Amino acid sequence: MIPTHPITVDDQPLPINNQMIHQDTRPDKPEEACGVFGIYAPEEDVAKLTYFGLYALQHRGQESAGIATFDGEQVHLHKDMGLVSQVFNEGILSNLPGQMGVGHTRYSTTGSSRKVNAQPAVVDTRLGKLALAHNGNLVNTIQLREQLLQNNCNLMTTTDSEMIAFAIAQEIDAGQKWLEGSIKAFSRLSGAFSLVIGTPAGLMGVRDPNGIRPLVIGTLRSDPVRYVLASETCGLDIIGAEYLRDVEPGELVWITEEGLASYHWSPQQQRKLCIFEMIYFARPDSVVHNESLYTYRMRLGRQLATESLVDADIVIGVPDSGIPAAIGFSQASGIAYAEGLIKNRYVGRTFIQPTQAMRESGIRMKLNPLKDVLNGKRVIIVDDSIVRGTTSRKLVKTLREAGATEVHMRISSPPVTHPCFYGIDTDSQDHLIAATKSVAEITKQLEVDSLAYLSWEGMLTATGEDPQSFCSACFTGDYPVGIPESLKASKLMLEKVVI
Ligand code: SF4
Repeated sequence: MIPTHPITVDDQPLPINNQMIHQDTRPDKPEEACGVFGIYAPEEDVAKLTYFGLYALQHRGQESAGIATFDGEQVHLHKDMGLVSQVFNEGILSNLPGQMGVGHTRYSTTGSSRKVNAQPAVVDTRLGKLALAHNGNLVNTIQLREQLLQNNCNLMTTTDSEMIAFAIAQEIDAGQKWLEGSIKAFSRLSGAFSLVIGTPAGLMGVRDPNGIRPLVIGTLRSDPVRYVLASETCGLDIIGAEYLRDVEPGELVWITEEGLASYHWSPQQQRKLCIFEMIYFARPDSVVHNESLYTYRMRLGRQLATESLVDADIVIGVPDSGIPAAIGFSQASGIAYAEGLIKNRYVGRTFIQPTQAMRESGIRMKLNPLKDVLNGKRVIIVDDSIVRGTTSRKLVKTLREAGATEVHMRISSPPVTHPCFYGIDTDSQDHLIAATKSVAEITKQLEVDSLAYLSWEGMLTATGEDPQSFCSACFTGDYPVGIPESLKASKLMLEKVVI
């Protein structure tokens, strides 16, 4: 029998959890699920380096954060609800000694917003404790949960990540060693998983056979070489680590005192990186295939201008994520780029309902228009995506109130018509505006003078890579990993979709 979860944490719910937030107050953008980080460096203060790695990955999850360190004998863990800078201080970090660290920032897509669901998940095994940080979502949690419960597994949380940790523990307790047991456990998983796993014997970095979520390897020192794992290269840059390469789809890297060893644990490897990482989720300064995402997003804007140019006086971007595409649009069209909206950079997610008057004033808590820039102008506003459309509509109203004489909206991705099952919170299909409405209907609903999306082909061509190497299912419904019917029913509409 697998021992119970050894960590005692207060199971304290937030004042309002995700499910209770009114639709109007939910963010009108897909939400990234998690950021993961790992480091093996006996000479370094691994807790502090893990902290800064997570600090750079904060955009990938703002609900909870955690760090586990290994000192050769024990695992030291601290995790809590809140931003990385709120969860840790110097005193807490000094109580996390060791030669190896595993870190996690979380936005919940499975399991509710509770401290007990914060990661890393720490589980006892026959060979000692493991600490697991997961980015992604499994799609076979029902079967996996049944398998685990049949083996008297004492699941303590509602997350799929804990199930992965227990599946590994189950294989280890059945007599397997770390690598063999972990690989057996991974072959029981279906869906998206980029994992960083600390064990008493070494640090693992793992990607699912499709590599849906990113995971990169960096080096910290040259003699001896020390290795770092992070969801994105910005998690390496912040601690001065050099990008080495991506963990490949279906690869396991095993990092110990001897260095880094690579195992291709799955025979069915076909890269299907989430295209939304490229368009919106990952930080613009993160690098994918030797190019910053800022440059890729500018190229999306240039392509958008080629496909849907309109006469106007200025091009503005929706801060921050729409800005690179707006600059690209301006470069390709020759229409001047301007800053038309200023973002309050210190606004996080709020659980306090605004007053009715504030609601009516629109979205100005977050974005404020520059009236002298907008007044009397025909404006092209570029954003990276439209999900429900509620924010876009308020934005258009704000621009008109600031004096814009025309508002033309350009979107640097195709219409989002399908939900994500692989670790991104995109709302159910009936809440996606493009799932039920034509572009002409959306134009009317948003009250814009014109609206155009980037074509699917244009989005993929701009990557400069094989279009087949990306998941773009939220634009097409073509899911690279089969979704069980029971899961489909929770998010997909039964009626035929109008695209
Ligand atoms: S469905 Fe969309 S958001 Fe989800 S992994 Fe695929 S491209 Fe990314």
